Amino acid sequence: EMSTRVAVVTGGNKGLGLAIVRALCGQFQGDVYLTARDYGRGQEAVEALAKEGLKSFFQQLDIDDLSSITTAAAFFREKYGGVDVLINNAGIAFKNADTTPFAVQAEVTLKTNFFSTRDVLTHFLPLVKAGGRVVNVSSFVGVRTLNGCSPELQQRFRSPELGEEQLLALMQSFVEQAQRGEHLQNGWPQTAYGVSKTGLTALSMILARRLSKERPNDGILLNACCPGWVGTEMGGSSAPKSPEEGAITPVYLALLPPGAAEPHGKFVSDKEVQTW
Ligand code: NDP
Repeated sequence: EMSTRVAVVTGGNKGLGLAIVRALCGQFQGDVYLTARDYGRGQEAVEALAKEGLKSFFQQLDIDDLSSITTAAAFFREKYGGVDVLINNAGIAFKNADTTPFAVQAEVTLKTNFFSTRDVLTHFLPLVKAGGRVVNVSSFVGVRTLNGCSPELQQRFRSPELGEEQLLALMQSFVEQAQRGEHLQNGWPQTAYGVSKTGLTALSMILARRLSKERPNDGILLNACCPGWVGTEMGGSSAPKSPEEGAITPVYLALLPPGAAEPHGKFVSDKEVQTW
């Protein structure tokens, strides 16, 4: 088992995540893990793929639950000696019509999309094997949101000097300012989802720089991407892309060929590096 390659997808039970798992089952040389926070929904998705003739494996993983993350990380370390591909796809978005107060939306959305995704990366990055690929499913909305921030915030997010702890503080300050109703006067736009994805893309760049510095010979490529606007529960029925079409860029980044040197630390959409 230690020599078997392994790919792990978060939020794999439906939507884009399920389409990514399906594509990897056809294209990845190794074991593909569909992970989900809910046991039943995850197992059902694995069975649905089996009916299509596709073999996947299930591992419970609720990214909001630190003990679920450490249990999953220990499983992959013990069974496979690490992971070859990690796709951070799990994410949430409040509907536009949702009347939940913005302060709550800010805290809840940043928790899952930014802080919990960062927790997964903290525990899984040390497990990523040489030649590994890490893909963070962010969004073009994160770029648009960055462009809507004050010049000062834009400069901080884009700075190659921005460190992980500083980014965490910046994201925490958005939540706290939203709770005081002071986010707009502090230069943030009115979008919790957008800010969560701005943060995830910035985090991806920071972690990629760190990998290059600390593991220069391991050839790991880590990128953020946008799948496009995809018809899922989150994307809604007006979306132009199917989940299968949305999976193309994340899967491309997950399967960058051995020895490839780029992209790394980039934001990628339609298989092209985008300006940040
Ligand atoms: P869906 O709402 O259809 O699916 C979201 C998935 O994430 C579900 O499997 C959900 O599980 C899972 N999830 C949510 N919270 C957690 C958690 N705490 N732990 C583990 N899994 C969790 O959305 P999409 O498939 O559209 O979105 C997938 C990703 O793509 C998200 O990161 C989203 O932001 C991003 N994206 C989507 C776009 C679109 O147009 N759809 C555009 C750009 C980016 P459960 O079923 O249990 O709720």
